[in-house]
Amino acid sequence: MSSETSNPSKKRQKVSLYDESWEQLPEFRDWLEKSENEDNARCRYCNKNIPIYLAGMEALRRHAQTRFHHSNVPVFYGPKPLDECVQEARELLEPIAKKYKWNARTKIHFVQAMASALPDSEIAQKLAADMSLVDIDDSDDSNDSD
Ligand SMILES: [Zn+2]
Repeated sequence: MSSETSNPSKKRQKVSLYDESWEQLPEFRDWLEKSENEDNARCRYCNKNIPIYLAGMEALRRHAQTRFHHSNVPVFYGPKPLDECVQEARELLEPIAKKYKWNARTKIHFVQAMASALPDSEIAQKLAADMSLVDIDDSDDSNDSD
């Protein structure tokens, strides 16, 4: 317990200084770093000092919510190359297709629906493109007069 707060001669406003343990927090660790000035933190993405002496960690949260910060966050497609992700998605799909007894056509419909529902997912797009190249052996629904 600190007795400093009860000392009446200390009338300074509470000041937040940089705390290196913040760098371990998942919400900050990708971009937070120490500034030369300990009243400030620094955002690696924005190359910008963030004054923290008044609001402390709250100032970091506020910075992370700004449009400026979001525009500087690098886009990651995951640690793996796209082809590998597509292969994984395909392997995840397989047991589902088996369980519900989908034929090749159903599988392709599903993947295409997923691709149109997730237009910004490169994985879904690639998966759908790959799947549509697969030969459809659908003799089982040949009497479909659609
Ligand atoms: Zn930033």
